Amino acid sequence: MNVPQLPLRPNIAEMQGYVPGFQPPDAHTWIKLNTNENPYPPSPAVAAAIAGELGGEGENLRLYPDAGSTRARAAAAEVYGYPPEWVIMANGSDELLNNLIRAFADPGDEVAFVEPSYSYYSTLVEIQGARACRFHLNQDFDLVDFPVSYAGKIFFLTSPNAPLGFSFSRETIADLAACCRGILVVDEAYADFASTSAMDMVHDFPNLVVTRTFSKSYALAGMRLGLAVAHPQVVAALDKIRDHYHLDRLALVAAEAALQDQAYLHQRVEQIRATRERFSAALSKGGYTVIPSQANFVFASPPDGDGERIYNLLKEHKILVRYFTRPNLCHGVRISIGTAAQMDAVLRVLGV
Ligand code: PMP
Repeated sequence: MNVPQLPLRPNIAEMQGYVPGFQPPDAHTWIKLNTNENPYPPSPAVAAAIAGELGGEGENLRLYPDAGSTRARAAAAEVYGYPPEWVIMANGSDELLNNLIRAFADPGDEVAFVEPSYSYYSTLVEIQGARACRFHLNQDFDLVDFPVSYAGKIFFLTSPNAPLGFSFSRETIADLAACCRGILVVDEAYADFASTSAMDMVHDFPNLVVTRTFSKSYALAGMRLGLAVAHPQVVAALDKIRDHYHLDRLALVAAEAALQDQAYLHQRVEQIRATRERFSAALSKGGYTVIPSQANFVFASPPDGDGERIYNLLKEHKILVRYFTRPNLCHGVRISIGTAAQMDAVLRVLGV
């Protein structure tokens, strides 16, 4: 058979594509601690809202959803203390990261992020044909050589950092926002588990965008929901370029219900934080180096610095964690915080 020569853009033809964390088809037979999902169900209000929207025969599904996500946006605006024009909803926060690059970076423009952090940024940069700039961290997790005036179009700062789990201070974020002539995106996917956030600083810095996901603290990874808070001009630009019906009817009511049940969110977050502290202490006591975490995962290194060995050992016991082959991460593994019983199972296998 003749294979046609596709007229692909050269950067698409050459790129590898992002490889998400492994989602085993028999997920329920594993202790799944590899993609930072929440071990608890979402607020019961979510299932009730979805059932209500679905109705007896799914009658409502005939009709397109609200293209403006009006009710979910209003619910988010209420929770985060901004007018609705400062908020945009998204089909996972990945959609926002993607659209931020599309809106602000021309092919050839520079887009920066921290190494290590969320590796999807570099995939998005490649798709756009932009240029990636990586800023590194010193021993104290401070950025090395960040310029006083940074001319790149976007700087993605993951805080809490993934996969290491530490947070950047609010002072650092304010300094960076002042240094960036382009957009500073603070990716707060894990901020509900942290003791600090930059969410209230968007008022002060028109170039600051804070993104959040519903996939972790709200336990809605399967619904694909995210949001951003930013100056209304940034929100308007993102609204212009998104797919008009990017959120389906079930996702919209799920977002609204989840946002309106902050008591449930806080209760689950507290539970996960308590488990995280207990698990981290036990690992440290067992000789592991554990980075104090502000997220729903910990990055832990065994005494022999062989992360792959730990990954394989846990896998033999049907426990999945995340191992990164990169030289700056291969000395440890990233372990999502599950239930107390799941974390005890990890500790038993590791013999600590
Ligand atoms: N940012 C970070 C730092 C993440 O770890 C993730 C998910 N792993 C995302 C963004 C994307 O989250 P989602 O698209 O599920 O909202």
